[in-house]
Amino acid sequence: MADLNTITIDITKADHSKIGNVDFDNLSFGQVFTDHMFVCDFEDGTWQNPRITPYQSISLEPSAKIFHYGQSIFEGMKAYKDGNDNVFLFRPIDNFNRLNISAKRLAMPELPEAIFMDGLKELLKLEKDWIPNSEGSSLYIRPFMLASGEGFHASPADTYKFVIAFAPSGAYFSGKVKVLIEEKYSRSANGGVGFAKAGGNYAGQFYPTQLAKDKGYQQVIWTDDNSHEFIEEAGAMNIFVRINDTLLTVPTSDRILDGITRKSILTIAEAEGIQTEVRKIKVSELIEASENGSLKEIFGAGTAAVVSPISGFGFKGQDYDLPEIENTFGAHLKKRITDIQTNKSNDPFGWRIKVC
Ligand SMILES: *Cc1c(COP(=O)(O)O)cnc(C)c1O
Repeated sequence: MADLNTITIDITKADHSKIGNVDFDNLSFGQVFTDHMFVCDFEDGTWQNPRITPYQSISLEPSAKIFHYGQSIFEGMKAYKDGNDNVFLFRPIDNFNRLNISAKRLAMPELPEAIFMDGLKELLKLEKDWIPNSEGSSLYIRPFMLASGEGFHASPADTYKFVIAFAPSGAYFSGKVKVLIEEKYSRSANGGVGFAKAGGNYAGQFYPTQLAKDKGYQQVIWTDDNSHEFIEEAGAMNIFVRINDTLLTVPTSDRILDGITRKSILTIAEAEGIQTEVRKIKVSELIEASENGSLKEIFGAGTAAVVSPISGFGFKGQDYDLPEIENTFGAHLKKRITDIQTNKSNDPFGWRIKVC
């Protein structure tokens, strides 16, 4: 792989901008896309032709391996604007590193850092006007890689595309969700690809999640594939539990995505003197804590919502409601993170990167 420290990006601008058609006061999540995208091809064993083009369709042969063997990985991140139109990213190198961890596991080529970071920054500079700066809103960033190489042979492709697309997104008011603790299906297994942001992981979640929705729950709490006794993730988010005043989350593993929000929450909580524990959590422990009143909060953590509070959980036909409490850890830690992301507070951990 070429050691590229800086890259030259060819830029083709859109004839006219769509930005005038967008209602920035009523943005949903990931439905509106900006004028341009970044693309880079892996051909002849090297990443080449980094370019910014108008946002447009990607044309692939029917035999492209993405369609058959699912070599598809992605990242999810955000850009933020402060009141002075400064643009920031949050821990972007962690997304870059994780993309390559996913690439390696799916036998896809790793990407040089300069292509990821320079491509992202150049695209951000071009699309700066698309970054919302109202409370809670941001520009959602979707870097992804797919196997464009052709052939029905079940083997890794020899060509790939890396793409970055942007979607301005409004505040993520998901409200509190009721979740079902999964007893049959698994999101991931030992030795599998659960730690990678691989497209197929999400395809496999849709059906069990639909079954949970049919029963009146909004999300699934995934449990370990072996015994279904230990909680692992909350939908496509990492999971946090507060028992009395201790904040718990489960250790990352083969089966669990190493979330950037998760580790940021742990770091902030520890810096603030909140007692944290990273250890396995049994479903039976949650039920016991719910029954004796020590279970105070459960929330999911991920880039899109930052923190997504859970109102209660179902398990083996029984529902367990969480108490309505004030001054939740979840709301507090969400504010601490978003204040750092949007330059409303100082950044003692060096997570915020100014782009322009
Ligand atoms: C992306 C993702 C997360 C959260 O990761 P962040 O880096 O915090 O956005 C957690 N679990 C799964 C399964 C994910 O795909």
